[in-house]
Amino acid sequence: MTDTPAQAECIFCKIVAGQIPCFKLHEDDDTLAFMDINPVNEGHALIIPKAHFEDVYAVSDAAIAATAATAARVARAARAVLAPEGLNLLQCNGPAAAQSVQHFHMHVIPRRIDDGLAMNWAIVPGDMDAIAKTADRLRAEIEKGR
Ligand code: AMP
Repeated sequence: MTDTPAQAECIFCKIVAGQIPCFKLHEDDDTLAFMDINPVNEGHALIIPKAHFEDVYAVSDAAIAATAATAARVARAARAVLAPEGLNLLQCNGPAAAQSVQHFHMHVIPRRIDDGLAMNWAIVPGDMDAIAKTADRLRAEIEKGR
């Protein structure tokens, strides 16, 4: 099947296709989990359906269900590995919600007391070595099959 123009330009579709790299945490038939390279906190991860849907208004019931299930799995791994004091699942749609990638995704964001995180945040590149090390720890935990 031929990509639509939106899919051909979509950075997350390129990650799914293996055209650009990611710190992969988990993959199944329908979803992919990988580290956010501009993390707001340690362990910040993204979960996407492999199929391209722009946002919550477009996503299919099956795709959002599969994405939520993978997000829960990553969240449990983040709790085991990082012992955060809290954790947000966040999903953004449209400019006022600061959606910057037009491919439906859920953020898994481990939280710390007084981390000062606001709901809309600036995109700041992370330390790739630190992200890779955290990804290794999370991946190992996910693979334990919790
Ligand atoms: P949102 O602002 O809710 O659309 O979230 C998109 C997220 O994708 C941001 O937190 C970005 O840091 C993240 N992001 C963009 N490009 C990449 C990439 N190549 N690899 C990993 N994360 C990315």
